[in-house]
Amino acid sequence: MSQKHSLFILYAIITGVISGIITGWFFGTTMLKFSWMGTVFLNALKGIIVPLVFTSVVSSVASLGDIRKLGRLGGITVAYYFVTTSLAVIIGLVAVNIIKPGANLHFNDVGSADAIINNNEIATLSDILISMVSPNLFASAANTQVLPIILFSVLFGAAFTTLEKQGNTVNEFFTGANNAMLKLVGWIMYLAPLGIFSLVSARIAKAGGGDAFLKEVIGVGLHVATVLSGLAIHFIILFIILFFIGRRGFSYLSTMLNALLTAFGTASSSATLPITMECADESKINGKVTRFTLPLGSTINMDGTALYEAAAALFIAQAYGIELGVGQQVIVFITATLAAIGAAGIPEAGLVTMIIVLNAVGLPTDGIALLLTVDWFLDRFRTSINVWGDAVGAAVVDRYTSAALPDVETKNK
Ligand code: ASP
Repeated sequence: MSQKHSLFILYAIITGVISGIITGWFFGTTMLKFSWMGTVFLNALKGIIVPLVFTSVVSSVASLGDIRKLGRLGGITVAYYFVTTSLAVIIGLVAVNIIKPGANLHFNDVGSADAIINNNEIATLSDILISMVSPNLFASAANTQVLPIILFSVLFGAAFTTLEKQGNTVNEFFTGANNAMLKLVGWIMYLAPLGIFSLVSARIAKAGGGDAFLKEVIGVGLHVATVLSGLAIHFIILFIILFFIGRRGFSYLSTMLNALLTAFGTASSSATLPITMECADESKINGKVTRFTLPLGSTINMDGTALYEAAAALFIAQAYGIELGVGQQVIVFITATLAAIGAAGIPEAGLVTMIIVLNAVGLPTDGIALLLTVDWFLDRFRTSINVWGDAVGAAVVDRYTSAALPDVETKNK
């Protein structure tokens, strides 16, 4: 997509977000009539996730040519994920310890979170590991479970590198298929402004319009403020990492805005993945890096979710008047990191995996009911930070690996 085009789309998306908030706020449920536009946009994105992830990871790994390069690419990527996610959790913990958003709430009975707990597929740490290996790839694809598809694609792509000539032919096929997928994403982006407008306005309308929404937020206002300020601080820290380690700056951020706003509109990093890849491509990140790091990042690197899970668990403890010592906060740190890795890139997935964190330190899972009313709202911000973390990661990995990796040809190059 040309720069003029993507700038045009960016302005249109910003207009979409703002007018979505205003119309949802003032016209309430009338706006639900337009929600079909958001559904069309989301369906288009969701529909392309599996073929996009499959072709991009296979072509990225296969074109490394040598399995040892995968070690370097994978090593730097995972190290970056680990460091930044840990930073995010620490910010979440520090913010709640300073602001103490739950201290004056004194909740003993906040209602029941049974619906979430019963629908929850990932309740323990071993579930996360089990979910990575699929007994049936087609079933995983049908349910958009991306992690097992990524694992399979990495191994499949790695197997090509041992085949020499045959491997090259198939690799070329996957590279071409991936470029065609990205072309489709470029077309889907034209739907983004209207789609995001409708998603945002319908969500505020569903919350009952402006007044009802404000009441919800004020009820747990300090919690909302704590999470938002933590996310803002982490956004800046990631920018600093981008600047000093990734050696990129505002122009990278502005190219990524399309993806960040799509994340805000869809509350799903998986649904945003196609757009994130398109933006990385436009920013001239090495194609192999984009294709490997972004699909992986969209499912396991969730800084915003990790920060949120830690902050929310401590908030619940405060609201119930339960004191968590340093040892228990360390457990929150570890489990929040793992819970974020286990959370799928779909709306409000973090709320579900938070049960892992609460169980680990013996907090009442019903406390989740406290967060329900505003979770959809905070979800949008943490999803944008999740995507921003992936984008910065791609830039960092690009800087440290691309010299050793000849670029693949993509449609923007
Ligand atoms: N909605 C988030 C995402 O897709 C996950 C979560 O925190 O609920 O990245």
